[in-house]
Amino acid sequence: MNYLVSILILFTMIGCSSNTREPESDNNVVSQTVADRVITNAKVYLGKDNYAAAIAIKDGKILFLGTEQAAQAYIATVTNVIDAGGQLVLPGFIDNHNHLGEGGEVTCTPSAEYTLSQQAQLLSQCAQNVEPGKWIIGYGSDYLSEMDEQQTTPISVLDDLFPQNPVIIMDFTSHAQFVNSLALEIAEIDKSSPNPIGGIYMKDSQGELNGILLDNAGDLVMEMAVNSIEGKFDIFVEGILFGLKEARENGITSVGDGRTYWRRGMYEAWKQVENDDLLTARISLRPWIYPDVDKQEQLNFLQQAFQNDINQLLIVNQVKMYSDGVPAYGTGRVIEPYEFTWTPELPNGLNYISQVAMSDWLTTLYGIGYGAHIHAIGDLGVRESLNAIEQVRNGGSVLKYNMTHLEMVDPQDLERFRELNVDADLQLSFAAHSHAERAEHIAPFIGTQRANEVLLTPVKELQESGANVVLSSDWTVNSISPLSAISIAVEEGSLTIGEAINAYTINPAKALGLESITGSIEVGKSADIVILGTDITEATPAKVKQAAIKLTMLQGEIVFSAN
Ligand SMILES: [Zn+2]
Repeated sequence: MNYLVSILILFTMIGCSSNTREPESDNNVVSQTVADRVITNAKVYLGKDNYAAAIAIKDGKILFLGTEQAAQAYIATVTNVIDAGGQLVLPGFIDNHNHLGEGGEVTCTPSAEYTLSQQAQLLSQCAQNVEPGKWIIGYGSDYLSEMDEQQTTPISVLDDLFPQNPVIIMDFTSHAQFVNSLALEIAEIDKSSPNPIGGIYMKDSQGELNGILLDNAGDLVMEMAVNSIEGKFDIFVEGILFGLKEARENGITSVGDGRTYWRRGMYEAWKQVENDDLLTARISLRPWIYPDVDKQEQLNFLQQAFQNDINQLLIVNQVKMYSDGVPAYGTGRVIEPYEFTWTPELPNGLNYISQVAMSDWLTTLYGIGYGAHIHAIGDLGVRESLNAIEQVRNGGSVLKYNMTHLEMVDPQDLERFRELNVDADLQLSFAAHSHAERAEHIAPFIGTQRANEVLLTPVKELQESGANVVLSSDWTVNSISPLSAISIAVEEGSLTIGEAINAYTINPAKALGLESITGSIEVGKSADIVILGTDITEATPAKVKQAAIKLTMLQGEIVFSAN
């Protein structure tokens, strides 16, 4: 762990005071275990209104929690002592839905605030240094502004700008991609091509392809583009290392992967980072279930990738699958038909993986030992996923199933999360919102009546129903900062500060099946902790959001220090 060691040395030199003392032998402790590290002068959060002043750590695990005085017995000359300066020590944050390793291959980053034609100049620079015929891959644009654009279509803008290169630009939600004619040619897509499972090739009023590929239609072309990149393996590794840096700087010690596109080579890149001892967070990788790829081929990969030893830093025991798309694009699955949709041929949205197919998948995967992390946004996508999980539960599975996003939940389905033991994972984007504000946002698509009937991002309601509520970032869609989501949850009145801390620590640990080793500060658990510059248990939401990360520790090793 060269990397960790150098950080550690740096920290010890310029950071904490490193007092070392002989073990005290005055309180009948004759041969006390000597700790590798002791954190003193701390406010160690053990749960609501319950604190310790000191932590002793041995072999990466928490050996002792208690008073300053009692901790002295664990200190010898070899012990590294960290004076926390009275600051708050929390369990390391766990981000249950984060696209940590993705995006390394992106070379073009248009803004989501302007249409493609409005940022033609910026886009044209993306072709610089790219040889003719090579793919240009972008990320960050916005589908809805593109649909409002009256003068141009993405295909016309991108054909003008990139006459010699195939180009694909993913919007910031990853549910729409913009392509030019060359890209469509290479992908062998024309206006008579049938839509793939879970995707749509959008057309203009003349029936011509307009360069917008929704959901899985875009994923397929993106896969082709990414697989064409020379040296993609190194690019993936770089992307992962960048994501790990962002995570440790934000106090995150465990990550639930948003999806691993294993047919692009992402899995091998993660294994490389693991083998090189460069993982600075525990990662639960979630291989993506492809809606349109032969099941046996996928099972062959899943069988060999399965890694259920939670003491390792790279764990592979949950898959990622999508039930549906997103309501604003008309691809989220909704119980009542859309009032307005860009794709009227699908009045209730689409499935990547239908309830029947999902039920089949979950049952087969249960046989291997895989639980699942399921993307469900529309109220019907949520219901169908719950139905599929209910079936596999009835078949005896006690594995972990968590559903993510949950932007629309029919009130009838609320209690089912607790009843079926399905972890509810949600994201709160950049600001606090009331139900009325959320309803106003979604009403143009699903209608005012339905917007008022359904529960929209129901963090509070799920919490009150007794479900295991998990908050996560979905980075890079939202800020990676756990403190941002925690402050928003408190500010909008969805959770108390204690509940919000749980939603980023012990609750996601449960969702990931890691609660026996992390997620709370307890003797015997892994020493995964974060020290904050502000006591967020007593701060206003604005101060919570701004709290500094002072130190991040994974398995007793300092992986980040602000000093
Ligand atoms: Zn995501």
